[in-house]
Amino acid sequence: MQCPSVDSLFLRANGNFVCWDDAGSDKILLKYDTRKDMSCIVSADGPCALIAEKLAGNTLPFPETCPGCYCLSFVGYPCFSNRVINVMQVEPSSRCTLECKACATPCERDRLQPPHTLSPSVFRKVLEDFSRNGIDIRTFDFSGHGEPLMNPDLWQIVRLARKYYPNAFLTLITNAHGDFDERHVFSGLDQIQFSIDGVDQENFEKYRVGGNYERASGYMESFARTARSSGSSVRIVWRYILFNHNDNDDQLRKAFEMASAFGVHDLRFIFTHKGMWSTVLTSSAELRNHLIDLEVPSRSIHMDSFKSLRRRQKLGQSLKRSQSIYRTARKLWRTVRRKPTRSTIVTSDYYQLYEPELVKALNLGCRLLRAGRIPDARALFLHVNRMVQSPVSNNASYDPAIIYRHLGRSYRRLEASLNDDSTGIAI
Ligand code: SF4
Ligand code: SF4
Repeated sequence: MQCPSVDSLFLRANGNFVCWDDAGSDKILLKYDTRKDMSCIVSADGPCALIAEKLAGNTLPFPETCPGCYCLSFVGYPCFSNRVINVMQVEPSSRCTLECKACATPCERDRLQPPHTLSPSVFRKVLEDFSRNGIDIRTFDFSGHGEPLMNPDLWQIVRLARKYYPNAFLTLITNAHGDFDERHVFSGLDQIQFSIDGVDQENFEKYRVGGNYERASGYMESFARTARSSGSSVRIVWRYILFNHNDNDDQLRKAFEMASAFGVHDLRFIFTHKGMWSTVLTSSAELRNHLIDLEVPSRSIHMDSFKSLRRRQKLGQSLKRSQSIYRTARKLWRTVRRKPTRSTIVTSDYYQLYEPELVKALNLGCRLLRAGRIPDARALFLHVNRMVQSPVSNNASYDPAIIYRHLGRSYRRLEASLNDDSTGIAI
């Protein structure tokens, strides 16, 4: 088993380090303290090392939290290092301008420990602690559970990351409800991702509740045009989650035309299993055929299937384990990265249940049960159930029974064994 908290960190706006995203984001791993060296989170006996140790032994580190965690993975093995952080996710703000249907509600945000905006001085202290101890941070991902542009010091925070870690990859995700300023393009970012699902106000706001389409697309257009005309190397990604209300031919064609006209590098369609997901386009193969019918040039379509994306990610993870391979790959990437004249490509990404991984979890559960590790097996069974049930609240047409059918024998075997009187366990 593995999860991102082994080699990556999530710094919340209040300065605390928490577990990686989703279910774990309330689990504080290290509280912010001006007197404390914050890099101790990756010391040999710190929280990340303990998480790695538990996962390597096939035990969920936090039995009350981990079963509901989307980040838990059954591919590969945990690889902890106290010298290298793969990704530091930084939350510039825990507030947001929008109320997207699958995100935290304003009440949930109010319940978070303040401050709700990351202060540059807190971030500087974190950076100083890590760099003083010679800990490398490969990627800074400015996102979290709020909107980065709501932090008035956002661009100063980005520049601080660049100053302390000149070779790191800096990426940011935004809903683009901000006031554009040319200086944003030259803040030191390597990549910016705009979350804009649709090509008109009516459909955009069905998921992005409270959103203003003109404002968001205007910000993206200004950013992309400025970056292209100035020769900036910042990579521009338009993230477009596919729903039933934004997946028709006209909308897809218009999205590609707009992306090409603005100079977006990567128009990324995202398949989801949450909310009002597209029931017409459910795989990259379907989407590819559809785009070709719409006369999007096939050379512009660079889509992975879910399976091949997972394979590529796994290979990427193994390569990243070697610092020298990683450095060489980074150098190469910097040399060949997208030139301003290159055209828009269309890619895909997935926020979907991956059934083969759930089957792995169930099979591991059976092995643990045979070894007499009933609580560990039970935790994995709970994890599978939480994953299968999680989309229900947001989608009336979602039928978990279909997923259970696909999990088939593996699910029934673990369920029966756990219910078996001889284990003394009732689920
Ligand atoms: S699997 Fe557990 S330890 Fe890992 S990120 Fe999720 S909640 Fe945290
Ligand atoms: S824009 Fe992002 S942070 Fe804001 S509500 Fe939507 S998903 Fe959540």
